Amino acid sequence: MRDRMNQKEESRNSISQDKMMEQLIKRTQESYDRKDGDATSKYFLPDSELPFWKCTTTKEDPHIIDIIPFYAGDRFPTELNRRNPVLKDDYVYVLEVFVHSGIGPAKEMILCPLKNYGKPCPVCEEIDIQIKEGREWEEYSDIAPKRRCVYNIICYDSDKEEKKGIQIWEVSHKYSEKPFQSLAKNPREGGIIPFAALQKDAGMSISFEVAGDTYKTISGHKFLPRNYDIPRNISDDAYALDQHLLLRDYDYIKEKLQGGAWRSGKTETSNFSREQPSDSRRQAPKPTQQDDSRDSCPCEHEFGVDADRFDDCENCEIYKDCSEEFDRRRASAKLKRR
Ligand SMILES: [Zn+2]
Repeated sequence: MRDRMNQKEESRNSISQDKMMEQLIKRTQESYDRKDGDATSKYFLPDSELPFWKCTTTKEDPHIIDIIPFYAGDRFPTELNRRNPVLKDDYVYVLEVFVHSGIGPAKEMILCPLKNYGKPCPVCEEIDIQIKEGREWEEYSDIAPKRRCVYNIICYDSDKEEKKGIQIWEVSHKYSEKPFQSLAKNPREGGIIPFAALQKDAGMSISFEVAGDTYKTISGHKFLPRNYDIPRNISDDAYALDQHLLLRDYDYIKEKLQGGAWRSGKTETSNFSREQPSDSRRQAPKPTQQDDSRDSCPCEHEFGVDADRFDDCENCEIYKDCSEEFDRRRASAKLKRR
């Protein structure tokens, strides 16, 4: 036994200094690469050290949070609201972004240059090719841009959580801003509730539940009146979230995309997966509410093109018209290919 320990010791000593350094660098790089701890920080700068909140499954009590506004930096996405984009030092409460996930062998989450900043995006170009070739949504839905929201929050689940101060909540639009917006519409006065205001008379706390299912479904969103102002010393700690975004250039994204199992569909020999997904979003059309503007998307996506590509599509009032137009275009693209 003793001999074996000595042998081990000797073999350890025989590792050269260079080798040790090499291993350390490798481990540090690995740690850097997965620094996030979970998926949420993957499109943020690895050294930004944002304190991400773990939105755990709730049991008896819902989560209760306050959203804390912040001053925008100079990297805010411009495309979501092109007419009135967020500028540096604007006072805002949410960072909304479009993210491609599952890119390349490492399944990276990558901010879409096109949907966020109006710049060319290799993933969107690839999706356009797939659409023109008449492929089904299910075949490229994995990499389609998804709308995500990021907030500075304070969580009141326990004293311990509250003492952490500002934390960052990264969540799908469907489970956050979308229900918040429905709650924020003030039916009595026709106005809007500025729920992220610091003042007690205007701002609201928000409660919600998180299910233990695969999707960690968030439901039961409620606004709760607040009897306290958010102190300045807390709100001053809020992060300029856009400053922490990890923006990848065209070549990097293209390289990752082509390095994946998923290659350019420009030729007939596309490796694009033809496996059928387990859940089809096409099963989710909601009762339609007819609208005058049936050929323009209320969520600022492209009518007849973006059908099913976003979380918004699920409950969209013009879903039926939009997906019919989508099908019509696809059928005509198929005809052209013959
Ligand atoms: Zn894109």
